[in-house]
Amino acid sequence: MRTNPRYLILSFFGILFFTGCTSKQWYKGNTHVHTLLCGHADSSPEAVTAWYHERGYNFLCLSEHNQFIDPASVTMPANKRDDFILIPAEEVTGGSMAHSTALNIDGIVDPRLVHPSGANKTQVIQAHVHGAEQQNGHSILNHPNFHYRNSAEDIRPVEGLHLFELHNGHPAVNNFGDHEHDSVEEIWDDLLTDGMLIYGVSSDDAHHFKDLGPDRSNPGRGWVMVEADSLTPDAISEAMYRGRFYATSGVVLSVADRNENRVSVKVNESATERELSSSFVVGHKVAEGESGYLIQLIGERGAILEEVRGTKATFAVPSDSGYVRAKVTYTRSVEDEYENFYAWMQPVFTDGRSHFDKEY
Ligand SMILES: [Zn+2]
Ligand SMILES: [Zn+2]
Repeated sequence: MRTNPRYLILSFFGILFFTGCTSKQWYKGNTHVHTLLCGHADSSPEAVTAWYHERGYNFLCLSEHNQFIDPASVTMPANKRDDFILIPAEEVTGGSMAHSTALNIDGIVDPRLVHPSGANKTQVIQAHVHGAEQQNGHSILNHPNFHYRNSAEDIRPVEGLHLFELHNGHPAVNNFGDHEHDSVEEIWDDLLTDGMLIYGVSSDDAHHFKDLGPDRSNPGRGWVMVEADSLTPDAISEAMYRGRFYATSGVVLSVADRNENRVSVKVNESATERELSSSFVVGHKVAEGESGYLIQLIGERGAILEEVRGTKATFAVPSDSGYVRAKVTYTRSVEDEYENFYAWMQPVFTDGRSHFDKEY
């Protein structure tokens, strides 16, 4: 659909590159967090960085509202591990129109692009994409269901937007919708069904590191696992832009492979158990459920094409769905209800829309 000869050439060299490369590994990171600098969060950039460093994350974006925190200005923990980096970022905050994380930027996004006067929501999001590009970064549209601000109709026409927050740990963002509004996952399936090339991110958007509770904006609730060749801001950012990651609210995978023919998933049970024993994770509360793991293959408009109860599955990719994606749900009972935790793999496209389609 959007195939461009330039991308085919890039894809060809991408295959050569990855065929000869055996050093890819998974890196855990959070693309969205706040500090004292915004005026409504409770910890310094150093304290926030230390929280993630201490808990084994590999990368973090200090994404402040319309401010650029230069990683070089942040004092790192005295015992800093070699496998931890800060990625320069900003939460471009266009008032009540749209927020986005400008990922791996060289400097602050042009303030004129934050909320152009007279622009509608689509145009504001488009301006954010341009602003991130001008600073050599990529844009992630944040929390579309925060006050139900950004519908699929707002997002669909935006060009060059390939990342958005499918899940956000802030308690006010309505990830799962309500009786009047779609969940963000339903918005994602609408966008994918309509031909958009867009990948789903999970982040914390944490503000509160001192005051803990389910109604507070605490860290540790959503993150991404990125498969990259090295741990550098460029390598992580480019891997995300090409969909080489999965999003999670607690479930960890040991296999997350996808190509044009097959999607393979395997849960890392011990790592998932470790994550879910944390007091920071927050499950999605549901009235009914069945304890254990469920792996689903999902197609257009969110249709469940296949499902397997258990910790591993391999699905053939059908040719009659423009895309498919796999999702893992772990359900556990709590008192008289259930709570779900998820891992969301990125889609496989069968209709040629991806300019990265040979580079899984
Ligand atoms: Zn925001
Ligand atoms: Zn935020």
